[in-house]
Amino acid sequence: MVDSHRRKDIVPTAVTPSVADLSCLMLVMASYPILEISLDKVRQNTHVVVGMCHERGIRVAGVTKGFCGHPSIARAMVDGGVDMLADSRVQNLMRLRELQLPKLMLRLPMLSEVDSVVDFADISLVTEIDTIKALARAAHAKRKRHQVILMYELGDLREGIVGEIELLRILEAAAGLDGVVVVGLGTNLTCYGGVLPTTENLSTLTELRGAVESRLHVSLDVLSGGNSSSLYLVEAGNLPEGINLLRLGESIVLGRETAYGRPIRGTHDDCFRLIAEIIEVKAKPSLPDGEVGHDAFGKKPRLVDKGIRIKAICAIGRQDVTPEHLLPEDGSIEILGASSDHLILDVTECRTTPRVGDLVAFKLTYPGILQTMTSGYVSKRIQ
Ligand SMILES: *Cc1c(COP(=O)(O)O)cnc(C)c1O
Repeated sequence: MVDSHRRKDIVPTAVTPSVADLSCLMLVMASYPILEISLDKVRQNTHVVVGMCHERGIRVAGVTKGFCGHPSIARAMVDGGVDMLADSRVQNLMRLRELQLPKLMLRLPMLSEVDSVVDFADISLVTEIDTIKALARAAHAKRKRHQVILMYELGDLREGIVGEIELLRILEAAAGLDGVVVVGLGTNLTCYGGVLPTTENLSTLTELRGAVESRLHVSLDVLSGGNSSSLYLVEAGNLPEGINLLRLGESIVLGRETAYGRPIRGTHDDCFRLIAEIIEVKAKPSLPDGEVGHDAFGKKPRLVDKGIRIKAICAIGRQDVTPEHLLPEDGSIEILGASSDHLILDVTECRTTPRVGDLVAFKLTYPGILQTMTSGYVSKRIQ
C-alpha cells in the first residue's frame, strides 16, 4: 500500500504519451494506473551490469524492447555505459534515432521491412540468405553497408542456422554481396526451449569461428553469446574466451534473470513500479454464491474457502497486465485474480484497511513491465 498518499496528493508529472495512439485516452492520461519509472535506478543497474562485462572485455548491447524503446529510458542505459542499443522491433529503433550509438535489430528482419531496418539499424541478426540479400539490396540503394551477425542454433530452437554446412553456405553466398558485411556469429538461448547457456554450448561459437575463418579466409570479429541468461557465466568467469558481445535487457531492467533467478548484487528490482487506485473495498465471502460456470477468460475459477475476507478492487485489469506479473510491495496483500478491467485483492491482513481512492503499489516481472509499457491505458511517469 502507498498509504502515505491519498489520491488527491499525487499530481503526476511528466506523463508521457504511450505507444498506442489512443487519442481520446490522452485526455485522461493524468490518472491512474501509473507506471513509475526511475531513470536513476535504470542507470545504476546498467552501470553494474556493464561493469561486470567490460571488466572481461565483453561489450554490451542494451536491449530496450522491455520498455518499447522509450528514448528517455534508453538514454539512462546509454548513461550507464552500454556500447550499443538493441531492439526487436524497427518501430522502437526508430524512437532511438536521436541516440548516437550503434543500433542492433534483434528480431530477424521481415522481408517487408528491410528498408526501415537499414535506415534505423546498423546491425541485424539474421539466419536466411533471402533476408541477407534483401538487406544488401536495400542498403546498396542507400549507399550503405549493413552489418549482419549470423545466428546459430545451439539447441533452444528459436532462431538459428542449423549446422556448419548451412552456415558455410550462407557465408559464401553473403560474401559476394555489396551492401552487407558479415561481422560475426551469435546465438540465442533460454527463450523458447529454456536451454541454459553453458561453457560447452557457447564454446561451439568459438569453434565455428575458427572453422569458418580457416575455410573462407574471412574474419569474424563479433561473437555474441546470448542474452541476460549468459550473465551468470560472466560473473563466474566461465564465459568461453572469444565471446565479446552480450545483448542484455532483463538483467538491466530488473537486476536479475529469470532462468537463474538470483538478483545481481548492487542492482534495483523496482526501476518500474505500477500504482493502481482502489475503487471498492468490501467484506465478501471467499467463495462465489451461485452455480459456477467459466470466468470472463474461459477458465473455471479455483477458489479456496477462507471465510469472509476484506477485498479491494483496483482499476486495472488483464487488458493492461496479467495478474501473475504483479507483485504487491505490501507483502500482506494477496492478489486473488483479475478480469479485463478489475484486479481483485485480499487486503484482510493489511495493518490498516485501505479505503476507496487509496493507491496500491506493485513491482513487476519482466513481462509485466513489457505489458504495462505497451498498454495505452497505463500512464507513464518518468522520474
Ligand atoms: C530479447 C532478446 C534479448 C534480450 O534478452 P534479455 O533476456 O532481456 O536479456 C537478446 N537477444 C535477442 C535475440 C532477443 O530477442
